[in-house]
Amino acid sequence: MCLGVLLRIRGAASASGTVYNLRFSFPCNLLLKGEALLDFLGDLKRSHMCGALRSSDAGQNAVLMGWVNRRRDLGSLIFIDLRDRTGVTQVVVNRELNPAAHAKAGLLRNEYVIAVIGKVKQRDPATFNKNIPTGEVELAVDELRILNEAKLPPFLPGDTVLPNEEMRLKYRYIDLRREAMQFNIEMRHKVSKAIRDYLSAQGFFEIETPFMTRSTPEGARDYLVPSRVQPGSFYALPQSPQMFKQILMISGFDKYYQIVRCFRDEDLRADRQPEFTQIDLEMTYPQPEQVYAVVEGFLKAAFQAAGQAIQTSFPRMSYDQAIRRYGNDKPDLRLPAMVDVREALTGEEVEELAAKLRMRKELPILLIRIPKAGNISGTERRTIGTYGAYQHVGGPNFVQPISDPKRLAKDLPALSEKIAQFAQLAPDDLWLLAGALNKPEIPAVMEQSAQHFCEKCGFLRLDLAQKYAEKHGAFKKTGDVAQDYRFLWVTDFPMFEWDNDEKRWNPAHHPFTSLHEEDMAKLEANIDSAHDPKSPLGEIRALAYDVVLNGTELGSGSIRIHRQDIQSKIFQALGMSHDEARARFGFFLEALEYGTPPHGGIALGLDRIVMILAGAESLREVIPFPKTARAVDLMVDAPTPVSEAQLRELGIKLKT
Ligand code: ASP
Repeated sequence: MCLGVLLRIRGAASASGTVYNLRFSFPCNLLLKGEALLDFLGDLKRSHMCGALRSSDAGQNAVLMGWVNRRRDLGSLIFIDLRDRTGVTQVVVNRELNPAAHAKAGLLRNEYVIAVIGKVKQRDPATFNKNIPTGEVELAVDELRILNEAKLPPFLPGDTVLPNEEMRLKYRYIDLRREAMQFNIEMRHKVSKAIRDYLSAQGFFEIETPFMTRSTPEGARDYLVPSRVQPGSFYALPQSPQMFKQILMISGFDKYYQIVRCFRDEDLRADRQPEFTQIDLEMTYPQPEQVYAVVEGFLKAAFQAAGQAIQTSFPRMSYDQAIRRYGNDKPDLRLPAMVDVREALTGEEVEELAAKLRMRKELPILLIRIPKAGNISGTERRTIGTYGAYQHVGGPNFVQPISDPKRLAKDLPALSEKIAQFAQLAPDDLWLLAGALNKPEIPAVMEQSAQHFCEKCGFLRLDLAQKYAEKHGAFKKTGDVAQDYRFLWVTDFPMFEWDNDEKRWNPAHHPFTSLHEEDMAKLEANIDSAHDPKSPLGEIRALAYDVVLNGTELGSGSIRIHRQDIQSKIFQALGMSHDEARARFGFFLEALEYGTPPHGGIALGLDRIVMILAGAESLREVIPFPKTARAVDLMVDAPTPVSEAQLRELGIKLKT
């Protein structure tokens, strides 16, 4: 319950000499509600931001405005830490010199919005605050205006312990006042601006494309928007501006980019959002290298904006190589690649090794190495392969890991020595040999391919990398940019991937992706094998590429098909009839027939780039108003049911 006390203060030293009627309400801090205490801003103008004042400003008059970050009442002196986006300035109100301002300062609570007019003073060196740039000065207040009160927020921007994330998202406006969030959002601005500036300087036009459109071919579920004027018809929110950017090339804009929102109704994983932002671009007549150069250029500018001087150009690796050496298509280069020890051995030695370890000799025998993590107990060693994503994907059903180096040295001393030399093992490395389990009685094992096997091993490598992160230290920032940010281009992706649920070949990227010219004959020879899992369609390489950073895919793109005849063949190979293709992409196929220049492009996730640069743990930390994992905006409380009348207008009737 609130206790009320009525207090009258004569603002003796204030300019207006106003009499304030104050209702004190303890412990609530709504004490100003309904009372005419709040001051008007009038014609007062802010002279400095709260992070601006320095010793050199001492003696100047200043007008600061901001939030009360903290108030310390020392009796005759009240100190206020006044905060805005740029920082904090200490403000001091002295009862002797300025009783009216002092009385008002006594009413302040956290997050009140105030204006202070006063003189900048150099602090006594003994009281310098070395933690803040304004720490050598303070503002001695002549006049204080309370511009707005604030309810006691559920948490304070200055709190060191954060509330749970739901609370942060519900009160996002308070959360965004926190220094870390202000930093992240500022970083986002700087990064976007650097990218815009770079691309404009390279002759790219930023061109907007519609949000209310029809389904685009990225392969996720669409968000739909019902049409009122065309009852029963729906717009789709774009999963990307893919077809529009290609049409802009057909329209002669030559180089397009857009920092654009995309919408995909997918089940959300930790680092996915239903709406996210892409740096999307497209250009005419490019070789993949030209796309790489543009991306490297804008990434360099973006990283520069965050104070990181990265080196270009990035190394390249084919998809096949990535799978064989890292077990996935987004290799994390901060840890050693896997090596196939068969390369170091003679045919007989491979036979001997494979037989002894019950591994298949015709599939890779991979050595996985985690530096500096070798010193673990035998018991811990025996748990390898029993946890993480490797376990989750059923790795143990396919892979035979041998993780006891002593045992291997004892059983096969010569081979063991040869392998150690080949893999350049250091004494404190944790390493293991992984071969394809040789159990012909398990049919799944019989079917496994080298790719399938390497992928399982890739999971094991990453699980170990995570588990022993403290030991190898490779994920820690060192300050050496070349070591901290390991970029890579992965090239030559397969054109098609087999969908085991639908029992068909699907585009690995999207159906407008061009194939290698040399693989055209293979496409033509297998054009009617969309439902055959053994079809050589799986061998066709696309002119598609991904840019990867530290094991994370930052973006993907491709050279596109610009010829209608080839586009039709791709649809045919995908098992899509002429009519079906026309129904889905008819306008686009028609556009292709009107003089389409060769073109290609890419799209990178801005949220992820900013997240990495801000050192944030989740995308939600760099998106001002993100959704939860259940795709809910807790602040505005969306989605919500809508009224019967709205539905009726749209011609929609709910089933429930
Ligand atoms: N539109 C594609 C995507 O969002 C990227 C591209 O091919 O440019 O994945």
